[in-house]
Amino acid sequence: MRRSNKVKDIEFRELETWKEHYPLLNQLISMKEILWLNPNIEKFKTGMKKSPLTQEDVRDAEERLKRFAPYIAKVFPETKKMNGIIESPLTRIPSMKQSLEQNYQQPILGELLLKCDSHLPISGSIKARGGIYEVLKHAEKLALQHQLLTIQDDYSILDSERFRTFFSQYSIAVGSTGNLGLSIGIMSAKLGFHVTVHMSADAKQWKKDLLRNKNVNVIEYDSDYSKAVEEGRLQADADPACYFVDDENSNDLFLGYAVAASRLKKQLEELKITIDKNHPLFVYLPCGVGGGPGGIAFGLKLLYQDHVHCFFAEPTHSPCMLLGLMTGLHDKISVQDIGIDNVTDADGLAVGRPSGFVGKTIEPFLSGNYTVSDEQLYKLLKELIDTEGIHLEPSALAGMIGPIKLSKEGTDYLRRHNLTEKMSKGTHIIWGTGGNMVPEEMMMQYYQKGLNLTRG
Ligand SMILES: *Cc1c(COP(=O)(O)O)cnc(C)c1O
Repeated sequence: MRRSNKVKDIEFRELETWKEHYPLLNQLISMKEILWLNPNIEKFKTGMKKSPLTQEDVRDAEERLKRFAPYIAKVFPETKKMNGIIESPLTRIPSMKQSLEQNYQQPILGELLLKCDSHLPISGSIKARGGIYEVLKHAEKLALQHQLLTIQDDYSILDSERFRTFFSQYSIAVGSTGNLGLSIGIMSAKLGFHVTVHMSADAKQWKKDLLRNKNVNVIEYDSDYSKAVEEGRLQADADPACYFVDDENSNDLFLGYAVAASRLKKQLEELKITIDKNHPLFVYLPCGVGGGPGGIAFGLKLLYQDHVHCFFAEPTHSPCMLLGLMTGLHDKISVQDIGIDNVTDADGLAVGRPSGFVGKTIEPFLSGNYTVSDEQLYKLLKELIDTEGIHLEPSALAGMIGPIKLSKEGTDYLRRHNLTEKMSKGTHIIWGTGGNMVPEEMMMQYYQKGLNLTRG
């Protein structure tokens, strides 16, 4: 409480000065949709000199996931056909592209693809990358320390009473708006850990029910995500056998997400899509606290360097990363500090204060950040079902409007980076971050909302 009051004081004195410095702040505060281009973007090679993380770190995460693959394949049969590698399809969406072009009266030059993290096995969202990775890393560390495992072993031995009894001496905790809780909860419980998920008020009932059915301890809060994380951290700190997955500061989550890049590269090659100097790649990533989109963007930059252009997408009511980057205050400012309510139906993105670690790490690499209204998300949700038969949750649609925004409002960026002439040979990837586990009835309500708004 004391900390947020302090920020409030600063806010009252400085908000007017900020508005002078950052004219876009006025539109942000009035919750209009905006596109912000990052003035601090650097050439990859110079940006990389500032990075606390390296290619080696990402490779290490990738190797660890390979070690666990035999275990994953054994305990989650749906991953068997991919040999225990948790990955999602990359698919062209030509009908949706046509519909976007018509509805927004804007041609989209280049190809449009959807990365279906909505269909990631185990927990049906982008969190099946970072969240599961961090739990596995912690489990491996404990088992190695106690000489129950060597990295040469076949990790399917972890699926045994011996290991479950061992892990049951330890607990794992996390604060979440829902999807991270699902990933951490499901994975931790499967290994045998005691696990507690601290859920913010945004979290959907079905997610809490599902976790409780899997023996996960769910604690509910009336407040938003930052509070749930804070409470979780406090409770976990009091117990030495408890490991806290810190969504706001975790290198491991970030690296788990970053592994997506090398997998995507392989998929692009299979589709015979070239990415190079004359064939730019644009990626649009829904952003909450920042770890998911940050990790993936970082991984992509390592592979494609200046040929990839990453944009984050946030709800108009929760533009925390945009605010942190624009003001350079990162986690020292929240959307509530400037009078924005952080109330959105995009529950996966309902975060008022961004990760400072992610903001600072991604700052030299990020092309820009835009906001999108909840109404827009519902309309896009309905349209994607009609045109392609793909079901995403509201949060996961935030990326979909990216190519339109960039084409309409980002011409400065395209010119500055010599991209204008190359757009027709480029590729746009929308990161579809979740949706496969949404109950059918709930999805129908979402669809109906989109339909009403379209007719409205
Ligand atoms: C969590 C989440 C995101 C964003 O990830 P962050 O790491 O919070 O930025 C995007 N979409 C969905 C569906 C999510 O659950």
